[in-house]
Amino acid sequence: MKRLIRNLGLLLALVTVSLMVTACGNQSLAKKNVLKTDQQEKTITWGVKADTRLFGLLDTKDNKIKGFEIDLATALTKQMLGKDAKAKFIQVTSSTRMPMLKNGNIDAIMATMTPTTERRKQVAFSNQYFMAGQSLLVKKGSSIKNVHDLNKQKATVLGVVGSDSVENVAKVAPQAKVLQLTDYAQAMTALKSGQGQALTTDNGILYGMSLQNPGYEVTRGSFISEPYGIAMNKNQKDFRLAVNKALKQVRASGEYNRILHKWFHNVKGFDYKEAAKE
Ligand code: GLU
Repeated sequence: MKRLIRNLGLLLALVTVSLMVTACGNQSLAKKNVLKTDQQEKTITWGVKADTRLFGLLDTKDNKIKGFEIDLATALTKQMLGKDAKAKFIQVTSSTRMPMLKNGNIDAIMATMTPTTERRKQVAFSNQYFMAGQSLLVKKGSSIKNVHDLNKQKATVLGVVGSDSVENVAKVAPQAKVLQLTDYAQAMTALKSGQGQALTTDNGILYGMSLQNPGYEVTRGSFISEPYGIAMNKNQKDFRLAVNKALKQVRASGEYNRILHKWFHNVKGFDYKEAAKE
């Protein structure tokens, strides 16, 4: 009996300590001024995609993540903190990005993320840095030419957990069956193995997949606008203002257009004006 009481006491003490640690962690996070800390450390930690060709894709040859968002984040970091500053990249997926930002693992999310009303309740967003639209990727010659065919044929459409694409397609094509995968690499594998007749997300991401898989094509037009913004914690106003200022400067200097061209010049019919829309 005595031992039981002692063990219970120990457990209680442990729980109390861990609760205190969590509380302190959150408190220091709430008090942290991200802009100030990053200026001191000359580093910004960005959450980026590593499964998305053209935007952020891990190159297994040198273990570096490469893409439009990586180059833009690097340009913004240097614009904000100086030429010798460092952009640090941490891999996120559509479902891990929000908790990683809220837990303070990253300073900002630059990961094909659209500022939806629901997300705006939880985090703040920068000005728009890329204008995409939701579309479909299908096998060449497919009978699915648009989202209405998807609906009529009651087809299975593949998407990714944590993306708003899965909710959007369920609204526009309520008869279609939506199958959600963990990330875009897995969604593409599922399409190729015939687990669905189409894959849905933003056209820019789908272009990257079609470049890599020439047997597949992006259907014409998009059915919903999907602008991208950089997500930051709501209490980091200084940081957000600095990001917006840097974005403006990088656009004005022509660097933004240079980066856009570097990544999208191979995409047939890519609409630069639309993508760069502010
Ligand atoms: N833009 C959409 C979103 O924010 C789809 C791309 C993604 O999964 O990141 O959810």
